[in-house]
Amino acid sequence: MQLEVIQIPAGPLETNAFVVIDAATSQALIFDAPPESVALIEGEVMARKASPVALIITHGHWDHIQDTSAVRDRYEIPVMMHDLDRERLESPGERDFPAVTPDRILTEGDTVELAEHRFEVFHTPGHSPGQISLYHAESQSLFGGDTLFPNGYGRVDIPGASESETLATMAKLLEFPDEVTVYTGHGASTTIGQERGWIERVVSSGKLL
Ligand SMILES: [Zn+2]
Ligand SMILES: [Zn+2]
Repeated sequence: MQLEVIQIPAGPLETNAFVVIDAATSQALIFDAPPESVALIEGEVMARKASPVALIITHGHWDHIQDTSAVRDRYEIPVMMHDLDRERLESPGERDFPAVTPDRILTEGDTVELAEHRFEVFHTPGHSPGQISLYHAESQSLFGGDTLFPNGYGRVDIPGASESETLATMAKLLEFPDEVTVYTGHGASTTIGQERGWIERVVSSGKLL
């Protein structure tokens, strides 16, 4: 059965949340909870009479997690993320938003189910130590947060980022088929095929752009 993917940019950095709906059951996964996203997510969910079953956090940067508590409370759904970024959600620090303890820790090779669909967890660190990408093989869709963008990767000049991990993650992306659509954390989506050229150059040279 088909999945519907709804892109919801929100907050000062126009961070993308995604609502992914299984057409057969109307169950939905939500990816990321940017600032000021909860009302927008609610609007899309209501318009489609969908039932969210989980909130998956791609990584712990504030612009992807600020409405986590609001989304979880609205739908009473589990919050899932990688262990290496959980501290940003549990201890927001100077950012003024409610702390959340994740309900489920996701690691490489785990699967998240949406009705009959299976999303496979890939650990794709570099931009953030605990960044994950979720792959739905049937529709060839990858939800990568800030892992990959058109013509580039997520910033590595910020605390917690790693150039060597980004290089390893880029090499990992080459193992996906060209047809895979990558839904990004900001702006437009892309495909592995569109990005393969520069990724191959970066990986073979061992140096980032
Ligand atoms: Zn980020
Ligand atoms: Zn971001």
